Amino acid sequence: MNIHEYQAKELLKSYGVPVPVGGVAYSDQQAAQVAEEIGGNKWVVKAQIHAGGRGKAGGVKVVGSIEEVQKTADAMIGTHLVTHQTGPEGSIVQRVWIEQASEIKKEFYLGFVIDRGSQRITIIASGEGGMDIEEVAKQAPEKIVKEVIDPAIGLLDFQCRKVATAIGLKGNLMPQAVKLMKAVYRCMRDKDALQAEINPLAIVGNGADKLMVLDAKFSFDDNALYRQKAITEMRDLAEEDPKEVEASGHGLNYIALDGNIGCIVNGAGLAMASLDAITLHGGRPANFLDVGGGASPEKVTNACRIVLEDPNVKCILVNIFAGINRCDWIAKGLIQACNSLQIKVPLIVRLAGTNVEEGRKILAESGLSFITAENLDDAAAKAVATVRG
Ligand code: GDP
Ligand code: MN
Repeated sequence: MNIHEYQAKELLKSYGVPVPVGGVAYSDQQAAQVAEEIGGNKWVVKAQIHAGGRGKAGGVKVVGSIEEVQKTADAMIGTHLVTHQTGPEGSIVQRVWIEQASEIKKEFYLGFVIDRGSQRITIIASGEGGMDIEEVAKQAPEKIVKEVIDPAIGLLDFQCRKVATAIGLKGNLMPQAVKLMKAVYRCMRDKDALQAEINPLAIVGNGADKLMVLDAKFSFDDNALYRQKAITEMRDLAEEDPKEVEASGHGLNYIALDGNIGCIVNGAGLAMASLDAITLHGGRPANFLDVGGGASPEKVTNACRIVLEDPNVKCILVNIFAGINRCDWIAKGLIQACNSLQIKVPLIVRLAGTNVEEGRKILAESGLSFITAENLDDAAAKAVATVRG
């Protein structure tokens, strides 16, 4: 689960991390009000969508008057902001964050991720922060430093100093950097975050230099949300695919794709294999859907309904290898779905495993026209042939 930039900043602030003074606004008048309240003579108006790359797409504007804050907020709110991370359809800007603009002297990149290799939270940092960090990673990977954190000991001061030195922080910025990194790490651990990305971390200020977080992105472990109520409350369903939201409410794992062959499969591995088989036969899957183990007829019906909410779906491929599942339940679920949803697209069904004979018999005796398949390859070939007409 992801949160907005302003939520990440408020969270970091509660851990003592320096962030700009700001406020969120849902309308242009609120934006003007926020700017008035926080004061100053220069403000940054920032579109709040979950995707990054806003700076280059016009979603981050520095302005010098309250009127301009209002005008900029008005222009941003309600528009589809398209960045290199949103995909071509973009994301609708429903709120903006207004903050006092900072005098930026230098920008850094500071990320905390879980490194799969070491299975540990790892700091990734660079002195070449800002909007082109992806380019730095590609062109000059030596400018990116890494520091692995031992979970039993936690993040130690010397590690923070090592990272800070490597990215060029010194003098009075050093103790600030140590305090900041330790706070981000503590926040990440407390809140079951998978990732905390600060880009840019900046040296700001006239006179005394100060480190400040100017942009922050957090994502959290969905499997830990049951014990993270405050984080769960920050969830913005508008940023998620409505079909994915509905599916997760029914205990289904659904991810929308852009093809026309709907897929209902049990197990993530088999689901991936099914997508590959469809692609191999020259077709394009419309989604990834894992019904999981113990798929009751109701679950199968819900799965069919969610897949059919995608208007691009021209046929549904059902591929079940029942272990914990039972083919007779799946068959009953498909019949129930056909009757209650009046499915008009062809259904290609491949069943294997527990109670397969019974499952096949139920389908055969239903009087409904399922296309049955012997194995995964056969099922994929038949699905692709169906959409080709
Ligand atoms: P992103 O493009 O979605 O990652 O959005 P960011 O919040 O990182 O903003 C993009 C760029 O806007 C940053 O790299 C900064 O250069 C600039 N920016 C952000 N906040 C400020 C600010 O307070 N003052 C100034 N002058 N520039 C800012
Ligand atoms: Mn950024």
